[in-house]
Amino acid sequence: MESTTEQTVSWCPSGLADRPESVVLGVRSGEDGSVAYLAEPVPAKEVISLVPEGIEPRRILRFASHCESDCRQRVGTECGLVNRIVALPGPPRGSAVPRCHLRSQCMWWNQRGVDACHHCPAVSSLVSKDDDLGNLVADPSTTQEQLEAWIAAVG
Ligand code: SF4
Repeated sequence: MESTTEQTVSWCPSGLADRPESVVLGVRSGEDGSVAYLAEPVPAKEVISLVPEGIEPRRILRFASHCESDCRQRVGTECGLVNRIVALPGPPRGSAVPRCHLRSQCMWWNQRGVDACHHCPAVSSLVSKDDDLGNLVADPSTTQEQLEAWIAAVG
């Protein structure tokens, strides 16, 4: 999915904050930390300095940056992370998806379509140590079977 042209470059919706192209995708809000998407991309460098000292920016914001071929989540030309994310329970099919400025260039959308959009708001790019499921999903070595077993075990 990597490309040298701006038209076809794929963007990661759980991206890094410190790349030259990084933008704020949305704000993590509410009790569950769901992402509220910005109507337009805002350069990350304009926002990072406004985050209070001592707070990891990814705790309160989601960033988008270019999908990188050496990302540990890459499996060939695909993103293994989004495949695990969409394996989790999510909103029913047919539910509305949030408006998102990134969609047309989003790696997750291009790979998993509307399923990715249904799950995307719940994703945090910063997983805490005590978030067992989050860590399982974030681990590139986790298999579909392991995820299903975890979900079945917690009911
Ligand atoms: S492989 Fe997935 S997690 Fe990694 S940069 Fe690309 S879209 Fe993001």
